[in-house]
Amino acid sequence: MGPTIDQYIDIVGKETITHLRELAAPLAGMKVVHVNSTRVGGGVAEILDRLVPLMQELGLDCSWEVISGKDDFYHCTKSMHNALQGNAVPIGKHYLDEFERTNVENAEQLRGALTDADVVFIHDPQPAPLLRQMPDRKGKWIWRCHIDVSKPYRPVWKYLRQFVVEYDASVFSLAGFAQQLPHQMYLIPPSIDPLSAKNRTLPQNEVDSVYDEFDLDRNRPIITQISRYDRFKDPIGVLEAYKLVKATMPELQLVLAGGGATDDPEGEAVLAEVRDAAGDDPDVHILLLPPDAHTKINALQRASSIVLQKSIKEGFGLTVTEGMWKSKPVIGGDTGGIRLQIFDHHTGFRVNTPEGAAMRIRYLLKNPNHIERIGDKAKEFVRNNFLLTRHLREYLSLMLALVRGDSERVEL
Ligand code: UDP
Repeated sequence: MGPTIDQYIDIVGKETITHLRELAAPLAGMKVVHVNSTRVGGGVAEILDRLVPLMQELGLDCSWEVISGKDDFYHCTKSMHNALQGNAVPIGKHYLDEFERTNVENAEQLRGALTDADVVFIHDPQPAPLLRQMPDRKGKWIWRCHIDVSKPYRPVWKYLRQFVVEYDASVFSLAGFAQQLPHQMYLIPPSIDPLSAKNRTLPQNEVDSVYDEFDLDRNRPIITQISRYDRFKDPIGVLEAYKLVKATMPELQLVLAGGGATDDPEGEAVLAEVRDAAGDDPDVHILLLPPDAHTKINALQRASSIVLQKSIKEGFGLTVTEGMWKSKPVIGGDTGGIRLQIFDHHTGFRVNTPEGAAMRIRYLLKNPNHIERIGDKAKEFVRNNFLLTRHLREYLSLMLALVRGDSERVEL
């Protein structure tokens, strides 16, 4: 049983929670279904895990369904993900056929849940073709895109677009990602749950436990990146930045921690590359974590002096938000949703190269008072913009606008 909605009052104030209840009241009993392709691993699962119970508590009949497929399906959707984020990755017909076939099969399983739903949120490209299989659908269908589709590899976007145009609306995390589509588009950035195991305040002994568990020296600075092992997250760039700083600050320790997502088949290969690049430096800690390691990730982020997220493409970057909420200065790649969160010298630093990251790591470690100042600002920025309560408010407003056809909606 997770936290109840009233437990957020201490963090966001009573008025915010009252407002949520008011917005939800006209939607009471409405059947809302979220669909994605993994229950664990990655940001979408992280969000739905908490958003769905809170929608239920607010009176909506909300559920979460997960589609599944065989290896070729995940191979296809991972290539699609890479192509939509800009890599020129052609996808063979065999894989696209498997993509569509898997969606047809999943549609049969989910027909009962989806045809009579009032609102269906389809998250990301993997389940996008489901809608076509539901000619008798009753409700509004929303395509919720979490990835950076600002400069997609055109042939793959063109292919996916044929499914997306059939939706009633789509949601992107920021304006730069929105595409030409013939329906309403909404901008809703993601969020973190401040009361989840990943983000709640931890007693000091729980933070301290990671020093022993992962053989870290609590008296020397630690820099950490938490991410799936994915090339877009640039773990090799993080290692390069670390090595540049380590040359003059030998006390530095690096933690690269991540696990897989069930819908991401490339993780193992990337992890092997990272291990290879790290060599035998005892101060580099490459951790492979199980999917439920939320408290450990929380503690690792809190035990760090600086959090890194040196992505070269990033839909949003929940790990950035998570680090900021823990009052850490985050050094993030100058890309996608990281730009919504990090403002140089205020809430962190944005970088484009390992050299840039190294420069900012050195700067912060030499100026501990800036670590504190930036960390404090970062936390307040997240409180005001990227908590689950704001996200819920925007989803409720979106549903009201779509279901009731109100004219007042946020249009692009
Ligand atoms: N995460 C996790 N275990 C891992 C790696 C990541 O729990 O081994 C979590 C991380 O804390 C964050 C989410 O997965 O909440 C990743 O979201 P993000 O938006 O940063 O990236 P995505 O994986 O969705 O591209």
